[in-house]
Amino acid sequence: MSEYRPISQRLTDYKPVELRPTGIYLNSELARCQDCGIPFCHSMGCSLYNVIPEINTEARFGRWPMALAKLLETSPFPEFTARVCPALCEGSCVQGIHEEPVPSRLIEWEVIEKGFDLGLMRPRQPQERLDLKVAVVGSGPAGLSAALFLNRVGAKVTVYERDLKCGGFLRYGIPDFKLDKDIIDRRLKLMEEEGVGFETNVEIGQDISFKLLTSRYDALILAIGARAKRDLVVPGRDLMGIHFATDYLTVQNKINSGELEQIPPSFSASGKKVVVIGGGDTGSDCVGTALRQGAIKVSQLEIMPKPPLTRNPDNPWPQWPRTLRTSTSHEEGCDRYWNINTLEFLASADGTKVCALSLQEVDWQLKDGRPAPIPKPGSEFQLEADLVLLAMGFTGPEPISYLEGKKLDPLGRLGPKVYLCGDAANGPSLVVRAMASGLNVARTLLDDFAPLALAL
Ligand SMILES: Cc1cc2nc3c(=O)[nH]c(=O)nc-3n(C[C@H](O)[C@H](O)[C@H](O)COP(=O)(O)OP(=O)(O)OC[C@H]3O[C@@H](n4cnc5c(N)ncnc54)[C@H](O)[C@@H]3O)c2cc1C
Repeated sequence: MSEYRPISQRLTDYKPVELRPTGIYLNSELARCQDCGIPFCHSMGCSLYNVIPEINTEARFGRWPMALAKLLETSPFPEFTARVCPALCEGSCVQGIHEEPVPSRLIEWEVIEKGFDLGLMRPRQPQERLDLKVAVVGSGPAGLSAALFLNRVGAKVTVYERDLKCGGFLRYGIPDFKLDKDIIDRRLKLMEEEGVGFETNVEIGQDISFKLLTSRYDALILAIGARAKRDLVVPGRDLMGIHFATDYLTVQNKINSGELEQIPPSFSASGKKVVVIGGGDTGSDCVGTALRQGAIKVSQLEIMPKPPLTRNPDNPWPQWPRTLRTSTSHEEGCDRYWNINTLEFLASADGTKVCALSLQEVDWQLKDGRPAPIPKPGSEFQLEADLVLLAMGFTGPEPISYLEGKKLDPLGRLGPKVYLCGDAANGPSLVVRAMASGLNVARTLLDDFAPLALAL
């Protein structure tokens, strides 16, 4: 079980809410890992195929260097997933059939932090450099994973990032109270020492054309994320006080790091009634941020039905359990609504700002063989709001003319020199999947350009 700072304390700052696991707790939990004959946590669970029982065995006997080596065999950045991964591995843990799963995410946390504590996380330069120059566009977990891997096998890698700092959604989306940005900086420093080049504040397609970049490098990896936001096109959408969740979260992250001096008033929840539309992780991050900014009331709306407390029969182990999740932000204070559709944003007396939402309950029924939200007559109601945050996900990568007409093959190739990975290739997903995708594309690239290097 995770340990958290008390709510009264954590609402006064943006520091991480979850505490590093203690040794006593871990010792008892490590003893519960059965080192199963068929470890579903490897394959059904972890996209990186982390060899979890093997790592746990080394950790159980305090063999930290070996536990770390096993973890780093497959995971490029365990310090990120240890803090933000929903831990798909735990969803398929055998112990989880009858009791709590082994907390492999927390064990991963301890293994990687022990690695840093013991000075084992040193820069690993390649033994020799290959005649291979690669540009990586985008510095989220996918781009960073590809860069880390290719640099270590000897490619000369430069990462181009349009933001001022690297990290993608790790830095500008996920709030500090889930992932302290020092954790990203610590890793970026190591990568620089290993020889990875970083060019920030450079937008490819604007500051440098894709064509020029292609001519300067042997290969290009596009790790540009799925950044085209899903909008809610209902009457009143253009009123002041309605923002996309990621724009809102980015502002607060930039304030915390000093990249932005003052919060623009329309992005502050202080003294406001806040409604978050979208019941996922991004929505939950908005809830926690709004509470820290001083919102007087926060509500979160979801159009889907409330998930069950335990697995439904059509969702058996070892599948990921599609059950109700209550985040630390929800625990801090939030009204949650399910089966709710937004009909309209209502304007304040002067007609400029949002002041409420007109909502309606829905029933999910099969329509043409697919579940569809059917409005419940007479269920309309209004909810007051001075700030509305749209957290309904993303539709895919932002449109780029360079990508038009290019077809993605199953290994991530977009053309002879160009590769696509992470959320840009697979749709909005998770940090662990973005990392796995970055590694996979890097391996394909290496196989295409320098197959012998893989044997090094
Ligand atoms: C608010 C929020 C909370 C989340 N919480 C979690 C969580 O708790 N756990 C979890 O596992 N996942 C979480 N996710 C999802 C996770 O962050 C993403 O799946 C992951 O970051 C995708 O990685 P990526 O590298 O593919 O893309 P991104 O992280 O989106 O990075 C893409 C990068 O490309 C850059 N870029 C784009 N175009 C260009 C260009 N033309 N030139 C230069 N640079 C460019 C962008 O600026 C960005 O830095 C969350 C996402 C959000 C938005």
